[in-house]
Amino acid sequence: MLNLDLTEEQQLLEQSVREWGARAVAPRIHDLDRAHQFDRALLPQMADLGLLGSCIPQKYGGAGMDYVSLGIASEELEYLDTSLRVIVSVHVGLNSLTLLSWGTEDQKSRYLIPQAQGQKIATYGLTEPSAGSDARGIQSVAIKKGDRYVLTGEKMWISLADVADNFLVFAWSDLEKKKQRDPNGISAFIIERAFKGFSSGTLKEKWGILAGNTGFFKMDEVEVPQDNLVGREGEGFKIAMFALDQGRYTVAAGATGLIRACRDASVSYAKQRKAFGVEIGSHQLVKEMLAQMESDYQASRLLWMRAGSLKNAGRRNTKETGLAKWFATVASERAASDAVQIHGANGYSDEYPVGRFYRNCKGAVIYEGTREIHKVMQADYLLGYRTDRPTRCELPPYA
Ligand SMILES: Cc1cc2nc3c(=O)[nH]c(=O)nc-3n(C[C@H](O)[C@H](O)[C@H](O)COP(=O)(O)OP(=O)(O)OC[C@H]3O[C@@H](n4cnc5c(N)ncnc54)[C@H](O)[C@@H]3O)c2cc1C
Repeated sequence: MLNLDLTEEQQLLEQSVREWGARAVAPRIHDLDRAHQFDRALLPQMADLGLLGSCIPQKYGGAGMDYVSLGIASEELEYLDTSLRVIVSVHVGLNSLTLLSWGTEDQKSRYLIPQAQGQKIATYGLTEPSAGSDARGIQSVAIKKGDRYVLTGEKMWISLADVADNFLVFAWSDLEKKKQRDPNGISAFIIERAFKGFSSGTLKEKWGILAGNTGFFKMDEVEVPQDNLVGREGEGFKIAMFALDQGRYTVAAGATGLIRACRDASVSYAKQRKAFGVEIGSHQLVKEMLAQMESDYQASRLLWMRAGSLKNAGRRNTKETGLAKWFATVASERAASDAVQIHGANGYSDEYPVGRFYRNCKGAVIYEGTREIHKVMQADYLLGYRTDRPTRCELPPYA
């Protein structure tokens, strides 16, 4: 059942993230963004708030929150800055929740527990220089040799590439199926930064999410123990898509937070800036932009909460999560553009935060399924070209 009232625990979480953000992040984010600096010191603070293991059960070192709480955390984090929400998206959404559902008990004890406690940071490597939306186009390969797989390839546009300790990586383990582009030839592996043959770097030319780390990593005959195969051989594509159901959820909630940040900054500016002798907020066309932000915020929030409540109930939510992600990210682009517009020339300078919101929002319209990929998905559901078949492992309901 969708309940829009936050529980006491959820309200407490929202309040703690807000208070921490106002104290530890808000006064510094402008400078971090300008300096293109990822601040590692924020990670243990986020771990203390339970954010790095938010909805991982306590028996695996997590905070045992429900999935709506993950959405609340994502919304609050992106209200501060997209770079913070990205940490939760890749570490919890794409990686840890996937290990929770698909990992063996041994993998959970070696990887999930330290990740949920924030001792190790994790990310997700699917995209390559020549393949993003078309995930079957990846070229990385995993050749079985005795009790190991030898991985070779390069992953590109990876969030936290130069920060993470653990990587959930996808590669072709069946070269015949690779030739036929049969996704049942892709497998998923856990790679540690310390594995021989692994190297990474940061992308310097990025123009948004500047306080975040985005980069690439290379696997030069990295030997991965068989025990680090996630799921069965050939289940990697399904696992990659499963992970996106969780990551996209955090992106949807995060984009909702960005719309709220645009709205709040714009309302405040519209009440203090005067033009033609009156506050600009009293001009009808400015009101229209503010009203659009409010309706986009409320609609985006309803959509991610719906997806979160389905997750809590243990129900499949690929369609609902995709819709929430698509709607909120596109709406956040509109909100950020209008927020700059409302600020006039001041919006075009770094002195106000709306320019940062405008640069940051675009990434989410591209990653975790582009706007176009999500449109096609939703139309395919309507047309009956797409239905979601149950996979072997689903996200455990929140008990
Ligand atoms: C800041 C940032 C962080 C990222 N973090 C990660 C990460 O942590 N891990 C990871 O694996 N990846 C990550 N990515 C990569 C991201 O997921 C890909 O960029 C995304 O999937 C799109 O792939 P692409 O860039 O190769 O674009 P392409 O797939 O080449 O698409 C180019 C254009 O063609 C359109 N297009 C492609 N196919 C179709 C189609 N069938 N129908 C209609 N239009 C189509 C697209 O919508 C897009 O407009 C990140 C990207 C960014 C920008």
